[in-house]
Amino acid sequence: MSATPISAARVETELRALLGKGVLDSGQTAPLLVDQRGLYRGRPLAVVQPASVAEVAAVLRWAHGHGIGVVPQGGNTGYCGGATPDESGRQLLLLLRGLNRIREVDAENFSLTAEAGCTLAQVQQAAAAVGRLFPLSLGSEHSCQIGGNLATNAGGLNVLRYGMTRDLTLGVEAVLADGRIYEGLNTLRKDNTGYDLTSLLIGSEGTLAVITAAALKLWPATAASATAMIGLRDVPSAIQLLALLQAAASSRLTSFELMPRTAVDLASRYVDGVRDPLTLAHPWYLLCELRSSAAESLDEMLIQALGSDAAQALIAEAALAVGERQRADFWRLRESVPAAQRRAGASLKHDISVPLTAVAGFIDAVDRWVAQEIPDGMLVCYGHAGDGNLHCNVSSRPGVDLQTFRRHEEPLKRFVHDTVASLHGSISAEHGIGRLKVDELQRYAPPVELALMRRIKQALDPSGIMNPGKVL
Ligand SMILES: Cc1cc2nc3c(=O)[nH]c(=O)nc-3n(C[C@H](O)[C@H](O)[C@H](O)COP(=O)(O)OP(=O)(O)OC[C@H]3O[C@@H](n4cnc5c(N)ncnc54)[C@H](O)[C@@H]3O)c2cc1C
Repeated sequence: MSATPISAARVETELRALLGKGVLDSGQTAPLLVDQRGLYRGRPLAVVQPASVAEVAAVLRWAHGHGIGVVPQGGNTGYCGGATPDESGRQLLLLLRGLNRIREVDAENFSLTAEAGCTLAQVQQAAAAVGRLFPLSLGSEHSCQIGGNLATNAGGLNVLRYGMTRDLTLGVEAVLADGRIYEGLNTLRKDNTGYDLTSLLIGSEGTLAVITAAALKLWPATAASATAMIGLRDVPSAIQLLALLQAAASSRLTSFELMPRTAVDLASRYVDGVRDPLTLAHPWYLLCELRSSAAESLDEMLIQALGSDAAQALIAEAALAVGERQRADFWRLRESVPAAQRRAGASLKHDISVPLTAVAGFIDAVDRWVAQEIPDGMLVCYGHAGDGNLHCNVSSRPGVDLQTFRRHEEPLKRFVHDTVASLHGSISAEHGIGRLKVDELQRYAPPVELALMRRIKQALDPSGIMNPGKVL
């Protein structure tokens, strides 16, 4: 990227001519300049909030003309620092929240078209209003935006059944680096006309284009559900139970979330109103949920599946949620784990995935390493076990000095990521690369893959203005 020198006064004048009030005063922007985990603090050239696709295109044309880097930002809930500008004072922060209309809901076609700045919850509600389900569900759904979900190919709690964001998307509208608009907003289930550009833009973390709208797949609304919290002796039991539940409930098995005792203890201690629903303490907990669009008795199906001889040999204790309130309590326990870890002190985080056959071996290897190398920390490895996706975190023990604890960060990361690589897993299962994992991608991605990614980046963003310093 060749940055043409441009004075601050000229930046302000030219952007105001394009956007008017869409150029934010510095007094309004402080929270937007720090990433979700507080790892990065940016200093932007300016912060702009376009109100239409035409305005996004005008900003990109302007930035392209001046060789100025553009950092798209959705709800700023990402975990890899992807939506934070660098400290140079030369990157433009582009907020998508002004593009927040649901453009179309087509219940008969099971599709919905939303602008990038709609929150995920807004999309879910628009689908529910016509008796449909948009199944993407994340702990951040009231603040993350659908554009950000596409840009990170977000996963979440229902991937086991419905897939990641890429699987839920039919088409995309995006503004390219030079301001041209890619109009790929079709709502077709089948379209084999050449390369799949929509798929390419999903997961590109703002480094190829700015997503301005998405056409999304809908499903029939949920008519029945059943939720259980299960106590287990060990992780192999969880993986065996997954296969039993899939055989018994088929695609009704929607969520399969694993938590260690450490996670349950932290959530019960640090988050008000959270408590362990089981009577005994167990080394491992599973939260699993069946859902169906037919009005069938899923409680009965779940009781039968969990009551089979094969399942009973694996389960130490189980509780079925009675009513919506208890179901919400079970989920609150699971969803409180990140907040509890934050409140408990420092947490060294990794978002990895391994094949299901390797989940137990992976956790065991990290557990033994942490016990030996990090006596002032404890492993809190939890997450979407049904997808082989674990948030492999190490929390500081009470009273530990946080700065001293951070010395473990590099050796722990190397051990975790080397172990993942040896098991043919991924060093970023659902949160992306952002700024945080640029070096890790270079280290673990095959050279041919990296070379192809650079060629794609060069083709779509020849002057390198799209989210510079992220991903590659
Ligand atoms: C409590 C909590 C729970 C979470 N749970 C999950 C989970 O279960 N699964 C999961 O996958 N993630 C989870 N996340 C992470 C985060 O919510 C997701 O990554 C989400 O998809 C980010 O959306 P956002 O709108 O906040 O994007 P941002 O954080 O604003 O941006 C993320 C990246 O996308 C780019 N971007 C944003 N919008 C656009 C756009 N319109 N066009 C082009 N690029 C864009 C940014 O430049 C950046 O690189 C969680 C976060 C929190 C705080």
